[in-house]
Amino acid sequence: MTAYPASPAERTRWITSQRPPRREVGVNHPRAVFREQEVDRSGILRDVLTVILTGRECPWKCLMCDLWRDTSLTPIPPGAVVRQIESVLSQHPQPEVIKLYNAGSFFDPLSVPPQDDASIATLLQGIGRVVVECHPHLIGKRAFDFRDRLSAKLEIAVGLETVDPIALDRLNKRVSLETFCRVGEKLHEEKIDLRTFILVQPPFQPANEAIRWAFKSAAFAICEMGTGVVSLIPTRSAEGAMETLRQSGDFTPPTLKLFLEAVRRVHQTMAADARILADVWDLESFGESAEITRSIREELIRLNLSQSATRSEGLRPAAPSQDNHDSR
Ligand code: SF4
Repeated sequence: MTAYPASPAERTRWITSQRPPRREVGVNHPRAVFREQEVDRSGILRDVLTVILTGRECPWKCLMCDLWRDTSLTPIPPGAVVRQIESVLSQHPQPEVIKLYNAGSFFDPLSVPPQDDASIATLLQGIGRVVVECHPHLIGKRAFDFRDRLSAKLEIAVGLETVDPIALDRLNKRVSLETFCRVGEKLHEEKIDLRTFILVQPPFQPANEAIRWAFKSAAFAICEMGTGVVSLIPTRSAEGAMETLRQSGDFTPPTLKLFLEAVRRVHQTMAADARILADVWDLESFGESAEITRSIREELIRLNLSQSATRSEGLRPAAPSQDNHDSR
């Protein structure tokens, strides 16, 4: 066991002191862009453009987070995020759904300057759904004003991570379950959709409890927060604090088999109430054989696209209609 600090301030120091060097970033270019398909609440496959915007470093310092490596230490100047989105849309025009993730919070004024909101909304005209990510403490009036500027349906993604009280506290996220509930209620009132990220087998959680906690976390996200999408993420190790905890035995990444079991368990019970998605990015880093990794990835993608636990009628192609908004 490692001597993991007890107070949030000490934890932040412990986590940041072990970080590897930062990468150089240019604020006029997004870090990554990719296209994927995602099923909407009607079972229709949508074309999704995911843009990883370059933002400033998130003010929170969560234990498991390695997103800071591709962020700027200084505030993002006005106009830079607009240029990032403009350049992406010039090459990938009119996706049905766009995800604007920025390794932090979209409504962090030092990451996306508020004076850019109107220009960003104009660039997004004609897109059916806009998904941004945000820490619960930064969801408020600016988000509601941004919703009003958009022609699209707004969806906000938040990281609940886990409802396991020991693990959640030690992740240094600094958000209580009560706050998550309040944010869920507020977004529901404001007619903004919610997507919730859940970690499968985070640090300080034994492997033999991981499926149970993933299930309880998904149930909380759906029943208490009213989320429309649960996104399950296998917890990865990373250079720095996570690797220190792995070596001390406080963190063991899940096996891909356990991750698949967790996803199946949530699907079997909850796919009627929300879309259940599994993160299939970089499954190779879990170090399992190529054959196991390939077959588990295929099954996770099949579950993602078919939502098969409850959708026996299977997928429907996107209709050329106004039904780009799968509003809840
Ligand atoms: S709030 Fe999100 S982006 Fe910020 S440190 Fe935590 S996990 Fe990373």
